Amino acid sequence: MAEIRISLTEQQQVLKKAVYELCKLYPGEYWRELDETRAYPEAFVQELTKAGYLSALIPEQYGGGGLGILDAGLILEEINRSGGNAAACHAQMYIMGTVLRHGSEAQKARYLPKIASGALRLQAFGVTEPNSGSDTTKLQTTAVRDGDTYVVNGQKIFISRVLQSDLMLLLARTTPLSEVRRRTDGLSVFLIDIRGLNGLTVQPLRTMLNHHTNALFFDSVVIPADSLIGEEGKGFAYILDGMNAERILIASESLGDGRWFIEKAVKYSKERVIFDKPIGANQGVQFPIAKAHMAVEAADLMRLKAAALFDAGEPCGAEANMAKYLTAEAAWEAANACLDCHGGYGFATEFDVERKFRESRLYKTAPINNNLVLAYVGQHVLGMPRSY
Ligand SMILES: Cc1cc2nc3c(=O)[nH]c(=O)nc-3n(C[C@H](O)[C@H](O)[C@H](O)COP(=O)(O)OP(=O)(O)OC[C@H]3O[C@@H](n4cnc5c(N)ncnc54)[C@H](O)[C@@H]3O)c2cc1C
Repeated sequence: MAEIRISLTEQQQVLKKAVYELCKLYPGEYWRELDETRAYPEAFVQELTKAGYLSALIPEQYGGGGLGILDAGLILEEINRSGGNAAACHAQMYIMGTVLRHGSEAQKARYLPKIASGALRLQAFGVTEPNSGSDTTKLQTTAVRDGDTYVVNGQKIFISRVLQSDLMLLLARTTPLSEVRRRTDGLSVFLIDIRGLNGLTVQPLRTMLNHHTNALFFDSVVIPADSLIGEEGKGFAYILDGMNAERILIASESLGDGRWFIEKAVKYSKERVIFDKPIGANQGVQFPIAKAHMAVEAADLMRLKAAALFDAGEPCGAEANMAKYLTAEAAWEAANACLDCHGGYGFATEFDVERKFRESRLYKTAPINNNLVLAYVGQHVLGMPRSY
């Protein structure tokens, strides 16, 4: 039976503090400058990798930290709580599960130690397509077996960190939709080396936040057959399998965002004096911050529950989804309270509020839209009729 701990262990507190200390070396100015030029936080990611934080979920036998999902979540949370943006490097943690659970021993031995040491980066996850969006089973990218290779054709959109990664986890259709019994059948996952891959065009896509995302075009791209993870046609189940980890890790980032906003808002509202008193004395300023704080704290309890179930190997789909939803909404509430309390200064880049505001907003939309989390809870948890 999973035991839900409300307080962190001493080891987890030490971990949190160490990550926060490292992050302090990369203050607001660092992230602001990257945001302006849409550059990748190379130095920060390298330092995190060197310290072993990004390999937290890789088992010790492959050179990783062998930690649990809550520990990994705390690492991402602290990055965001410090004012940074863990999105630059979170994918490595949540993609890892697919390789760990379904990859062959040869694939694990070949890739994991190098990913753990930082010699290889696995930061790209290719699922979304222009014509299928949230309806993943309708994706149109195909991978057709040809001897000891697969030939990939199709398009992907919003695929992040492709230019900063050596490896990509790719979801493609290996059996046409018209030939499968269930629409979730016939999709396969591949772990591919994307360095100098012939026929792959990467077109960077500027978005409202610094996220290194791209449109991808696969024109008869030849990949080795042994890049297939697990069995052909079972890829959708493998990806779904990894979703709970992804939800819990993203929830942790939102908690970090929420806490950054609250800390920033509290500090500013105590310092800023208008009409001869600190603005935080006004209930119109104070109450939204207090409400957002409560929302963040409540959402954290759901994250702790989801993580405890996950780490105990128990089903946690409902809790992981609810944690993702609640934390994203709480962070957004905190973002608005923080922006409001800063008045005009909230819009000035040097305060970092507007940057974090944009960054935190993403998690209501991606990696899964909160609407679809509501649909999951309505349909799968509460048993109401399906909308799709
Ligand atoms: C910055 C950024 C980075 C990203 N990085 C990656 C990445 O690395 N890899 C990757 O694969 N993808 C990535 N994505 C894609 C992201 O996961 C998708 O944008 C997201 O899953 C939604 O898909 P969509 O944009 O096509 O929206 P759509 O599926 O077109 O949906 C549009 C709207 O309609 C709503 N909607 C649709 N159907 C229903 C329904 N049945 N009930 C209620 N509402 C519904 C949705 O909730 C949404 O609000 C990224 C996106 C962004 C913005």
